[in-house]
Parts: sequence; structure tokens; C-alpha cells
Amino acid sequence: MIRYALTCDKGHAFESWFQSSAAYDKQAKHGLVTCPVCGSSKVEKTIMAPRLSGAKKGGDAPPPPPAPAPSTEAPGPVAMVSPQERELRKKLRELREHLVKNADYVGQRFPEEARKMHYGETEHRSIYGEASPEQAKELHEEGIEFHPLPTLPDERN
Ligand SMILES: [Zn+2]
Repeated sequence: MIRYALTCDKGHAFESWFQSSAAYDKQAKHGLVTCPVCGSSKVEKTIMAPRLSGAKKGGDAPPPPPAPAPSTEAPGPVAMVSPQERELRKKLRELREHLVKNADYVGQRFPEEARKMHYGETEHRSIYGEASPEQAKELHEEGIEFHPLPTLPDERN
């Protein structure tokens, strides 16, 4: 026995059992398959796959849907900047602007000036300037605290 999902020409959907698909074809050809709702003999099988009763036969399963094509494009680095990060960047910029505005620029004399302040030779004030990695290391070793001027990655030049 085989069950078909059928529709008539009026759009009524129904199911019916047949001895075989050949039996269905024969009956349908002779107008013997009729719609139980309106009696129309103009019926056709819907795209629904027929279900077999009894033992399953191989080869009746519909083919699996095609797998999505693998993407050939390699993913690139992406980033979403959160509002917090935006705010942090703004704060960094403000801090640097504040430092630049309120501190004395001492340029290459930074290590010297920093030492003078540290050892009480001059009054403490905010200064900024330049120090080589070597000089920075020495200052740290002497216990002189300073911080790199905050820079934003996209503002370096
Ligand atoms: Zn009908």
C-alpha cells in the first residue's frame, strides 16, 4: 500500500491509499480517483513524498538538501567599539590635553628636571618632555615616578 497526498482542481487537499503507484496512475487515468469534498476527478499528487506502509524500502528517501557552499573568503579582523571604549578614548584625550596645557614642556631636559624635583631641588610641578628608554629606566631605578604621556593609537605621527 502506498499513500499519496492529493489535491483536486479546486484546491482540496486529501490523502488516499493505493495498491501501488501504478495502481494510482491507472485509477487516476480513468477518473476513479475523486476528491472526497467536491467529487472532482481532476486530482494530482502534491509534491509531498509518498509514505510507504509496512517495511521500508531503500532508495525512497528524498535527497538531502544541498549543503551551503563553503565560504572562500577568510574572515578578517573586526572590532566593535563599545560606548565605554569611546568614553575612555575621550577621557585619555582630555587627560593628555590637560597635561599638555598645564604642564611645562621641558623636552630633552625631562630626566634632569624630573631628578631636580625628585631630590627637592625644584618645586614639584607637572612637566612633560622626552626621555629615551635608557633614561626612563634610570629614572625608574632612582624611584622617580612618571608616566608616559597617553597617546591614542590612531593619533601617533
Ligand atoms: Zn475537491
